[in-house]
Amino acid sequence: MGRPPRSALALTFGCERLGKLTAGQGRPRPALRRPWPLWLTVPLLVFGAGCAGTGASTAPSVAAVPSLVEAKHQVVAYVDSGRYEADIAAVAEQAREYLESRAQRGGKLAIVIDVDETALSNLPSLRANDYGFIVAGPCDLPRGPCGLGAWIGMARAEPIRPVLALARLARDRGVDVFFLTGRPERLRAATEANLRAAGFEWTRLILKPDDLTTKSAADFKAPERKKLQDQGYTIIVNIGDQMSDLDGGFAERTYKLPNPFYFIP
Ligand SMILES: [Mg+2]
Repeated sequence: MGRPPRSALALTFGCERLGKLTAGQGRPRPALRRPWPLWLTVPLLVFGAGCAGTGASTAPSVAAVPSLVEAKHQVVAYVDSGRYEADIAAVAEQAREYLESRAQRGGKLAIVIDVDETALSNLPSLRANDYGFIVAGPCDLPRGPCGLGAWIGMARAEPIRPVLALARLARDRGVDVFFLTGRPERLRAATEANLRAAGFEWTRLILKPDDLTTKSAADFKAPERKKLQDQGYTIIVNIGDQMSDLDGGFAERTYKLPNPFYFIP
């Protein structure tokens, strides 16, 4: 084992101090960007933007790197305290109110819903990996590790209940439900099976073509929403857990759910 190098100790203490100052001051912020495929992009868990020094300090840039351990603790506290669930419910309630009132005015209406961490929760796999990112290999639950590909193939993700209620309300009010996800087309069967098992019904599930690579998920999703508009739909609600689910227009209202686990550009 042995002691960590002196520089590591200094880094840890510096960031822990800032972590305490910023804890509870709001939602987790987007984390580091990585050159992975968009739908697989899972960053380090970062609540604060860093821990750069103040005043006349000339601390080296490495001090801006936060403590991963502290970030994980904050994620666990956010989820286990019920705040994550409550925040989701609050956002979904706003969407429900708008959908309910807007649907009364009629028209060829649609709601667009993202899949991961919006319609379906991947928490069991995230927890099993201690909020790390494991793509390959089997998924051993609840112990972990849990490979992402295997997990998706299992089609066992639970619905995010307030979003399921929203989707059901939409259909009940004659509003078409479209799922729009960055998951690739090759995962269609597993995704459909999971959504169905979770209780969702929908008009169409739109997945990203297997060979399509974009800088931002919005570069795929916004044009897909435009296609729906060109087909005569008015998208009254667009809901997702990433800003890239919502950016680019073609929706009357957008609703951003919290996601303290990963960031998709
Ligand atoms: Mg998502």
